[in-house]
Amino acid sequence: MEIIVPKSSGFCPGVKRAEDGVFQLKEKTPKVNLHGPLIHNQIYTSMLESKGIETVDTESLPEGETLVIRTHGISMQEEKKLAQKFVLKDLTCPIVKRVQKHIEKAAHEESFVIISGKEGHAEVQGLVSYAKDHIVIETENELEKFLKDYKNIIPENYKQIFILSQTTHSRIFFEHICDAIKNTITHIPVVIKDTICAVTENKEKESLELQKTVDWTIVIGDPHSSNSKKLYTILKKASENTLFTKNLVDLQEIKDDWVNTNKVLVVSSASTPLFIEQEIVAYLKNI
Ligand code: SF4
Repeated sequence: MEIIVPKSSGFCPGVKRAEDGVFQLKEKTPKVNLHGPLIHNQIYTSMLESKGIETVDTESLPEGETLVIRTHGISMQEEKKLAQKFVLKDLTCPIVKRVQKHIEKAAHEESFVIISGKEGHAEVQGLVSYAKDHIVIETENELEKFLKDYKNIIPENYKQIFILSQTTHSRIFFEHICDAIKNTITHIPVVIKDTICAVTENKEKESLELQKTVDWTIVIGDPHSSNSKKLYTILKKASENTLFTKNLVDLQEIKDDWVNTNKVLVVSSASTPLFIEQEIVAYLKNI
């Protein structure tokens, strides 16, 4: 059986950079304190914990300790508060940092900020802290409500609207809300900044292209990871013969009959560690 793995499979550069940063820190200290899980992958989190790299409760962490800020970033207020107590090792992805800067600039220019994304997502919590007034729109329903009531939602002193996206959110939805807002709100300028991470989009494009040549596609990711579920949804929509698995044991339970299968595409999400992918690829090659 032939196995194809896209070049873009696995950790994105932001996660890879954070992992390298954490392992470098580990060489200097027996314990590494994380502000939250480095990625949404339970198997990987357990592996890090076994090495002394773990999420800590900042309330009980002694003053002066080093604390790692993960790729999603944190809010401006929280960063200031934590910096008074701890030594911060900021591993926020540079792409997310750039979006924070765009919002900060927009706030100085008296722009009302609209974010296409998920309210409460760690990255979005950080982003909104850089805005003065803002709204986060995730669904069609939320968009409709905003468009009906925008005169009451946007304070009168704002002279401009600034629309951007959570880095990993849907491009289709972002373009849709940009069009809808531009067509409805015409009394003040609407500025659009495309802040969607190209790494994620390229992985989706590359996987969709390769998928056309295979019998089955296997997406590897944690069931609680939104980027993993999004990748699976896109590939499943393009081909029914698409499976989602968190590891080899899970895959063996989902499917053990590979008769008449000549070619399989294996793709890991941006938050899937390489060792899980390698185990699955080795297993499939032996069939
Ligand atoms: S998905 Fe993109 S924005 Fe998010 S951490 Fe990875 S490289 Fe950075």
